[in-house]
Amino acid sequence: MKFQNVMEEYVLQKLDEVWDSLDCCKCDRCREDVISYALNQLKPRYVTSDKGKTFVKVNTMSSQFEVDILTAIYEGVAVVKKNPRHSTSNAG
Ligand SMILES: [Zn+2]
Repeated sequence: MKFQNVMEEYVLQKLDEVWDSLDCCKCDRCREDVISYALNQLKPRYVTSDKGKTFVKVNTMSSQFEVDILTAIYEGVAVVKKNPRHSTSNAG
């Protein structure tokens, strides 16, 4: 039996929705830092994925849940923007 943290999917989907509009470095490294920051703020939601159909549909998330995820993403962006893990001369 496999376990999957569906919060990862939620965060990735939300980040994709807002990524282009964010005012931060868009490199893969910063993106991953934002994702890991957000995931650390949010409670993991594990599901069993042995049947493939147990996956919770992302578009059934409640609006409060959505706000929580977006808040975590924006916090992550602010943190990464302040302290990018690379020289800011690479930013662009
Ligand atoms: Zn970057």
